[in-house]
Amino acid sequence: MTVEQGELRTGEVLLAKVSYSARRNTEANHSATHLMHAALRSVLGDHVTQAGSSVDPDRLRFDFTHNKTLSLEEIQKIESSVNEQIGQSVDVASQVMSMKEAVATGAMALFGEKYGDEVRVINMGKFSCELCGGTHVRNTSQIRMFKIISEGGVSSGIRRIEAITGEHAITYALTSISALGKARASAGLAPVDEKPLESWIEEKKSEIKNLEREIKKLQGAQVSVSDLVQTAIRFGKDSKLVFGDLPIEDREVLAKISDEAKNRIQSGIVVLVGTGGGAHPVNVCVTKDLLDSYKAGDLLKEIAGMMGGKGGGRPDFAQGAAPDRSKLSEVRNSLQQRLKAL
Ligand SMILES: [Zn+2]
Repeated sequence: MTVEQGELRTGEVLLAKVSYSARRNTEANHSATHLMHAALRSVLGDHVTQAGSSVDPDRLRFDFTHNKTLSLEEIQKIESSVNEQIGQSVDVASQVMSMKEAVATGAMALFGEKYGDEVRVINMGKFSCELCGGTHVRNTSQIRMFKIISEGGVSSGIRRIEAITGEHAITYALTSISALGKARASAGLAPVDEKPLESWIEEKKSEIKNLEREIKKLQGAQVSVSDLVQTAIRFGKDSKLVFGDLPIEDREVLAKISDEAKNRIQSGIVVLVGTGGGAHPVNVCVTKDLLDSYKAGDLLKEIAGMMGGKGGGRPDFAQGAAPDRSKLSEVRNSLQQRLKAL
């Protein structure tokens, strides 16, 4: 607490004022914490115990022992279970009794917590019975609504749930429904339709995949292998070097073109450099008759290395990726020089 005005002296009488709505929200969040604690134990098992809890007017936070991520189904079960107790308008009863009596009624005490001889027991029907000195609603209906907004791990074996109640939960639900409506409208789906938005999204995702496959095919079809072979340079007895700089991103398409070029030249080396986002795909192919003199893997390492990249593979076919396109003509020249010199 900070003193904003005047001075505070010993023996002075103070009047504490608590905001009505903040107090009501805190009560709702605290009572919901008890209901959720009971729901967690019934959905996940008795191993669930409280490992930390914080309640404020805006939300509740609850840490508990459990060693797995909660599934969507478990989260929904916990939410329905708590909301069912809210809907049943259960009176919240508080009773002060001896610790012995409390234990006899089966009230849930927190491990590691120190309790006095007399304790306060909070009951919400048969659903929840906990030792607690905190502030609560008088009837569960005052919580109005319960919604989990996040679930995650805090440390090994400890999970954390954050949830909201009352006006916050209702606003959250209404905003989500309206956002869903907008998304459906943008997808061209009627507000109430048999098709869920997620099936529409799945359909679109598979459409995109098919289109991408089509684009790859078309890119491959645009390349004329005979034009490529025309530009080949002779070396050795009757071998050819095909060097292609192609606007192709897909490795498989590039490999197919390399294969076709190899079949046409019969004897030689095919080097293809594609066009990628960051690094460009590169592949090298050596025909069988030249395998004693050249290894595709070694040539590729050299070429990709000059272009700041790397790769490897079999003696007859290797592939890799390289980012520096500005070295392309240098690569081509050094390769030609070397083959001609032999
Ligand atoms: Zn409590």
